Amino acid sequence: MEVKDRIEELRRLLEQYGYEYYVLDRPTVPDSEYDRLLRELTELEAENPEWITPDSPTQRVGAAPLDAFNKVTHDLPMLSLGNVFDEEEIREWVERIERSLGRSTTYVAELKFDGLAISLKYEEGRFVRGATRGDGTVGEDITQNLRTIKALPLRLRDAETVEVRGEAYMPKRSFEALNEEREANEEPLFANPRNAAAGSLRQLDSSITASRNLSLFAYGVGINTLAARSHSEAMKELSRLGFPVNQEMRTCETVEEILDFIHHWTTERPNLPYEIDGVVLKVDRYDDQEELGFTAKSPRFATAYKFPAEEVMTTVEDVDFSVGRTGKVTPRARFSPVVVAGSTVTYATLHNADFIKEKDIRLHDKVIIKKAGDVIPAVVSVVTSERSGTEAEIEFPERCPACSSELVRLEGEADIRCVSPECPAQLVEGMIHFVSRTAMNIDGLGEKVVRQLYDKGAIHTVADLYRLDREELLTYERMGETSVDKLLAAVDASKGNSLERLLFGLGIRLVGQKAAYLLAERFETMEGIAQATYDDILAIEGVGSKIADSVKQYFDHPEAQHLVADLAGLGLNQRFLGQKVDHANAPLAGKTIVLTGTLESLKRSEAGKRLQALGADVTGSVSKKTDILVAGEKAGSKLTKAETLGIEIWDETRLLSELAKYE
Ligand code: NAD
Repeated sequence: MEVKDRIEELRRLLEQYGYEYYVLDRPTVPDSEYDRLLRELTELEAENPEWITPDSPTQRVGAAPLDAFNKVTHDLPMLSLGNVFDEEEIREWVERIERSLGRSTTYVAELKFDGLAISLKYEEGRFVRGATRGDGTVGEDITQNLRTIKALPLRLRDAETVEVRGEAYMPKRSFEALNEEREANEEPLFANPRNAAAGSLRQLDSSITASRNLSLFAYGVGINTLAARSHSEAMKELSRLGFPVNQEMRTCETVEEILDFIHHWTTERPNLPYEIDGVVLKVDRYDDQEELGFTAKSPRFATAYKFPAEEVMTTVEDVDFSVGRTGKVTPRARFSPVVVAGSTVTYATLHNADFIKEKDIRLHDKVIIKKAGDVIPAVVSVVTSERSGTEAEIEFPERCPACSSELVRLEGEADIRCVSPECPAQLVEGMIHFVSRTAMNIDGLGEKVVRQLYDKGAIHTVADLYRLDREELLTYERMGETSVDKLLAAVDASKGNSLERLLFGLGIRLVGQKAAYLLAERFETMEGIAQATYDDILAIEGVGSKIADSVKQYFDHPEAQHLVADLAGLGLNQRFLGQKVDHANAPLAGKTIVLTGTLESLKRSEAGKRLQALGADVTGSVSKKTDILVAGEKAGSKLTKAETLGIEIWDETRLLSELAKYE
């Protein structure tokens, strides 16, 4: 494509996305996509300055105000901010400032609140008018709506005449409550607190705004009527006058101090009660600011560092299918690689046919992806507006990709499965599960070694792991004496594991770690579990009919009976070695507890076991059913969520004292 055509195309896309974002408060693509295109356009324009036009998105702020509101012309334009995305760009920005000034200077680093820029005008101490930024020159009069924000002072402590700039935002808690309510009423959900805040403020009915629990921070002044000499002085004055000024701002003398502030907030961000999308850096002294001046769109004396994008747009290049240990066939999307929250993502699971149908995902679709729980890549949604018509339905295979036997979809299930007992993919996945850390925990026997042993024909069932031949292992690739001996010792040690590990390792459908523990604890031996009736199993608190069914089915199978006997013959312990809990009378019976963060004096897994021994149900994720969250150091999103849900929180000291009380 010709450069000129690309420039035109980028302008068209940015116009469209800007309109959806600024005017409709309903963006269709993630911010990272908008930023990426804007950056490309900025670079192309820098290389071809003759094609810059005043209406280019690189030269303009925001979008024109809506006709539904009265228009307000700002006394001083409300500009945007330039962006920096990494350490190198921050260093360059600081160098540029100091080169221009010819000396070093002081900076203020502040949080970049993710809301909506507002202008608040006060005459002799009274709030007289509030406006949106609009296109930077003309905004919308939203005085009535702003009056509903409790944090906004209607009268100042002094009779000042001043225009204050700030950010109106929706606290995380209000955002979650609002979306829960909308979900209950089957109304469309807001994508994020920014859009919710903007949508709430740009309402014609201010009673709606009032119901949305917005808040605000003041972060600057328009024309300097306060006679302040620096930004930090102006902020102190605003605070004194009664404005909410964020207290996390920091004065920095060096780039290192700036980077330190950024690193700190990159990790602490989830613990804030409001969303931030970066850090704003400002030159502190007003005379320095004046000397540095402005570009068409933004001041030169300030910039915004943006956190690595958490939601990114990419293309579904292909979908492949893999067979898990239960025979479940899982579709997995392959993307054009993209960086999400700091690391490159190429694949994400698409779970099953229902998931694909619900999200309407097609081959070659543009999709928004993020990291769920901050680690596992997941598809958020399809950008349907980007469809070209060449996208194709995702076809599910009819035969198993590993063994070619026919796949089945069971009544009422979303998954398709390979039900062949001979399927090699299932056998191998089952063995990988058996040796894994949460099951038999055999050190040195990772996925690769299991695959190698299987491919060499050394193992067909998990029992074969206990019949491995030292001499033969020594002939394998990358298997020296030390590693073989270590491996055999680890295999041998695993024979002594308590019953629940072995039971979980067998990979009985629906029997997870928790159910395995409850079964082992209740029946004490493998024999006991195999002999238990359906009703005996169902009588265990926390074990439902589906699990009971699955356990019965498993032990009815001659193959399973043979395997269990084989393992016993090989010397594997089949008794429960844990502590039995009197569930009805245990001190923490009925309490669902989640652990998060780092504990100083004990491992989380140990704390979990001790809580379980007191009757608690220890689970992995915070929900409305959680009773207590134990939060150690560096607790992140689970803590925020628990706080939002009003769940009881214990720190480590409290945990230890509770344990001491009952143990
Ligand atoms: P910006 O958000 O990058 O920076 C300027 C804004 O930062 C100010 O207007 C102010 O509201 C805010 N801010 C927050 N804390 C501040 C503080 N402490 N001090 C000063 N200002 C502070 O610029 P912009 O022009 O408002 O908007 C661009 C943003 O909007 C980008 O993040 C872009 O990705 C997004 N956008 C997204 C789409 C989309 O389709 N997804 C479309 C258009 C724009």
